[in-house]
Amino acid sequence: MTTPRAALLSLALAVVAPVAQATPFDADSLATARALRDAAAAGSGAYAIVESLTSEVGPRMPGTDADARGVAWAEAKFRALGYDRVLLQPVTFPNWKRGAERAELLPPFAQPLHVTALGGSVGTDGAIEGEVVEFADLAALRAAHAGSLEGKIAYVAHRMERFRDGSGYGPAVAARSEGANDASRAGAIALLIRSIGTDSHRFPHTGNMRYQDGVKPVPAAALSNPDADQLSRLLSRGVPVRVRLDLDVGFDGEYTSHNVIGEIIGREKPDEFVVIGGHLDSWDLGTGAIDDGAGIGITMDAGARIAALPTRPRRSIRVIAFANEEQGLIGAKQYAVANDIDRHLIGAESDFGAGRIYALRAGVDPAAWPAVIAIAEVLVPLGIGLEPGVGGPGPDIIPLRDRGMPWAQLAQDGTDYFDYHHTADDTLDKIDPKALDQQVAAYAAFAWLAAELKGDFGRLPPRTPAPNPPVASGSGTR
Ligand SMILES: [Zn+2]
Repeated sequence: MTTPRAALLSLALAVVAPVAQATPFDADSLATARALRDAAAAGSGAYAIVESLTSEVGPRMPGTDADARGVAWAEAKFRALGYDRVLLQPVTFPNWKRGAERAELLPPFAQPLHVTALGGSVGTDGAIEGEVVEFADLAALRAAHAGSLEGKIAYVAHRMERFRDGSGYGPAVAARSEGANDASRAGAIALLIRSIGTDSHRFPHTGNMRYQDGVKPVPAAALSNPDADQLSRLLSRGVPVRVRLDLDVGFDGEYTSHNVIGEIIGREKPDEFVVIGGHLDSWDLGTGAIDDGAGIGITMDAGARIAALPTRPRRSIRVIAFANEEQGLIGAKQYAVANDIDRHLIGAESDFGAGRIYALRAGVDPAAWPAVIAIAEVLVPLGIGLEPGVGGPGPDIIPLRDRGMPWAQLAQDGTDYFDYHHTADDTLDKIDPKALDQQVAAYAAFAWLAAELKGDFGRLPPRTPAPNPPVASGSGTR
């Protein structure tokens, strides 16, 4: 079947082929890419890197002592892995801290609830109590009249759906990121949400939220999914259900962390860059193994394999361990401001857990699509297909994309990603080392070839950055 896209593609090929060089890559470049792929697929160092990070540093909440230990760990690891140089870029942000947090149902149903504050929430300033009012989803809460929730606790019960590509996240996450504003407008004293997650374990999922200008901040927290079920069952009985909430959280001063950049200096165009990477920070509840220790391990090892080759790639490759992704892509936004993004050829971030890659997707100038096809052909033996016209960049690539940089997405199987995402259950045992090997193979071949490309990937139309950009890890499928 000839789709309009396929017709466009063949037209693009027909137009481009006679004028461009015969192939986007030299035969030697392709042979090196295949060798990188096969060696990594047979066994990589990614798992050892994630094991080191999650064991020696553990959770890496922005602004904590562990943030600084993570930066020191990344700098030392890049050096030990043989990168040509390591750069540290300061990244400053407001410091949100989590203290004790507790919730319980009050009589006649008295019992504890498993809860966690959302990142960016204000605290309760001592325990607060209120009757709970349930809403099926954020739209229903949004329809609540001003003042109708006076003295009450708004509760959004919407359940996230499970999909391989994580596409259940987008429709669910606004309740977390924006719901407190709607609860406040209706007069509520707090917001509770069902966790944005697909598991049925008693681990609440944290994640970032943000107050809009002019809205009175009210505390916001997530219940574990079984606790949300429990609350909904009691509310269905048609009698008042009251909850006590005590959250000792909030902002306290500023903190300066660092983007840590491992660079392989290009042999011909050292001041042009291909970017791969992940984010070094994590939430505090687990050890940040799948989010995003995996992305750090995969891309650090992929770069190390290229650094170990006898020949440097044509352009420089930067493996970036971004600071504070979780609270608003803060490291990536400051990288985009501090660097000349016009010299950045293309970027890809691994930030969707540790599941195998099944597709290559890309946003490039249509004239550069033959190069994407040629890269995809090298990835075929890894079980990776080419998916034109869909997907989007990893979260930390978004601020660079907004300045015109093309992106690639090595789309991972995220079927179980949201079982663990932002919970205490995000730990190393969830990672299959063989799956990491497959991903290192793909990232190494991709980064090498992108840096070896004879032409370029063009530029994308610049976009005005959203004032409140998405702040969710694992949002790479948008
Ligand atoms: Zn993440």
